[in-house]
Amino acid sequence: MTGNESVPCMQTVKLLQEFLDRELTMTEVSTVQGHLDRCPPCLKLFRFEEGVRRLVRIHCGGDCAPSSLRDEILARLKRTRA
Ligand SMILES: [Zn+2]
Repeated sequence: MTGNESVPCMQTVKLLQEFLDRELTMTEVSTVQGHLDRCPPCLKLFRFEEGVRRLVRIHCGGDCAPSSLRDEILARLKRTRA
């Protein structure tokens, strides 16, 4: 596992959505997982997003993800990186 040392957090966060939807290629999955291993803030977001999705699935059958919450996560991440 070398290279891809500097996958931007924003890119990882974008991929997280698809990661959770199981829509990534093997390469992308390892990119995301590699980043999460090195980036605690993104790992935290991932856990959070995963938890949100579980709740959404329970309450809405998986098809009404709160986009405002997603925006909030992205905004929070930007603030973290600033
Ligand atoms: Zn990150």
